[in-house]
Amino acid sequence: MSEPFDVVDLIRTKRDGGELAEAEIDWVIDAYTRGVVADEQMAAMAMAIFLRGMNRDEISRWTAAMIASGGRMDFSGLSRPTADKHSTGGVGDKITLPLAPLVAVFDVAVPQLSGRGLGHTGGTLDKLEAIPGWRADLDNEAIVRQLEDVGAVICATGSGLAPADKKLYALRDTTGTVEAIPLIASSIMSKKIAEGTGSLVLDVKVGSGAFMKDLDDARELARTMVGLGVDAGVNTSALLTDMSTPLGLTAGNGLEVRESVEVLAGGGPQDVIDLTVALAREMLDAAGRTDADPREALNDGRAMDVWRRMISAQGGDPDADLPTAKETETVAAEADGVLTRLDAYAVGVCAWRLGAGRARQGDAVQAAAGVELHAKPGDEVKAGQPLLTMHTDTPERFGRARQALEGAVEIGGTAATPGQVVLERISG
Ligand code: URA
Repeated sequence: MSEPFDVVDLIRTKRDGGELAEAEIDWVIDAYTRGVVADEQMAAMAMAIFLRGMNRDEISRWTAAMIASGGRMDFSGLSRPTADKHSTGGVGDKITLPLAPLVAVFDVAVPQLSGRGLGHTGGTLDKLEAIPGWRADLDNEAIVRQLEDVGAVICATGSGLAPADKKLYALRDTTGTVEAIPLIASSIMSKKIAEGTGSLVLDVKVGSGAFMKDLDDARELARTMVGLGVDAGVNTSALLTDMSTPLGLTAGNGLEVRESVEVLAGGGPQDVIDLTVALAREMLDAAGRTDADPREALNDGRAMDVWRRMISAQGGDPDADLPTAKETETVAAEADGVLTRLDAYAVGVCAWRLGAGRARQGDAVQAAAGVELHAKPGDEVKAGQPLLTMHTDTPERFGRARQALEGAVEIGGTAATPGQVVLERISG
């Protein structure tokens, strides 16, 4: 079959700052999915987009073309509204775990189709796989059944939704083209729109541990994604949230499950509780449950009940002990004072090097590896006091993991008040 365009012409158009036409975008995504456009050509295109950007019409068409590369889910037959949350990725970001069952308490179905971690940010499925017996892969029928019976499902996206994104995301990850607003926005929103949720709340992370390091970029990403969602008929809003320091006190798969269970039991670190409740409120408002009180449902055990049913429905044992690492090593404070900075990116890389993350798709992760924090910015510390504990099954990793923390910790003389986790809200 002869092709209607030459990809080299399209790469040149974008490289030179031009605009791609609708038919050109449709073709390049389709041809890449079919293997007619080669990886190196798409990598050049992604870099041209990274450097030159895309206008609103191009991003919208690029997203639509990625949706059209695969199938769509349909939750319209469910007896309750659907609401989903998507985070742009951070360190210690375990919020999906308590959030999905919490929102389901109020008769809102939460189809949380999630991914695995790549690089320094953790993946929700890797975390849940630390629970003995838990399965990530469900077929569409099982997803719908669990949404009707339990109200919440956290599972793998499957290969059917936006396969063009799956291919392109893996390519971007190895070509330095992840952090481009048009590419991130279209990647996330193609999957979320294809998933068919009625409403969507985006948690757009800002800071060293996020793709977007400053507030202006995060705002632009959030506005772009909210616009794409609203145009597709999905009730979409976004919270910009702090990712300059890890969320909560743990980064690593089993460690984060343990902390999530603490939050579901009415305890846990304040920033994790605050963000879980803030996102739950957004999702519940969007689904029309404006008088629901999510904080109460964490405290009175209703969210925990849904969690237990959600884990059991996917073969997991909610009462099983979580794996513990074979070895631990602590890092101590070097001076007396107030912890003024504990860098999220450094902690993410440290956890990753301990074995919590993977270097390449398909690598295995360690369920028990990661970092446990004993202090957060704003806390007073004494010289010699443990600041954090590193966990791993492979102690030869401690050296490189410790190196990741160089320059990541600052101890000052004056008390700094810890910042707010939710920085801004953006609605459609
Ligand atoms: N998450 C995604 O799904 N895609 C991106 O491009 C970035 C984060």
